[in-house]
Amino acid sequence: MATPQENLLDWLRDAHAMEQQAESMLKAQSERLEHYPDLKARIDQHIQETLGQQKLIDGCLSRLGGGSSTLKDMTGKLMAFGQAVGGSLMSDEVIKGAMAGYVFENVEIAMYTTLIAAAKAAGDQETLAACEQILPQEQAMAEWLLAHMPQVTEAFLIRSAAPNTEAKK
Ligand code: MG
Ligand code: FE
Repeated sequence: MATPQENLLDWLRDAHAMEQQAESMLKAQSERLEHYPDLKARIDQHIQETLGQQKLIDGCLSRLGGGSSTLKDMTGKLMAFGQAVGGSLMSDEVIKGAMAGYVFENVEIAMYTTLIAAAKAAGDQETLAACEQILPQEQAMAEWLLAHMPQVTEAFLIRSAAPNTEAKK
């Protein structure tokens, strides 16, 4: 068995690892993008938001005396690296990257929705406030990616059909 506080701490460690992975993925995507300036700008904005989220989660973890999981962080970074390398081999990496980003943001939405419920159950007002600040940023990023998917796809298709024009990034 485990108390709500113990489960909350576990999930905060998961969130910490998730945000490390988010940073690696977003930075890898932004560094490679050349022909999709709107997408790149939105990703850069979310990198800044992600760094702020990491600070908030770190604050919760150190206040609860939990520290973070180095092993999970490393695994997350390796996975993100693998995804970035895998993406660079695809002729449609901008499309696959935007899809993967949308999936990732929705995992984050589920994670923070869980954390908010757990923080309420554990009576942890600071963690509740931190997660309620983060959740709308993840929702906004997910909504932006989905709303701009048609535009990114159209731009990709035009570049892809043109001779001597790089479309993938
Ligand atoms: Mg995040
Ligand atoms: Fe995010």
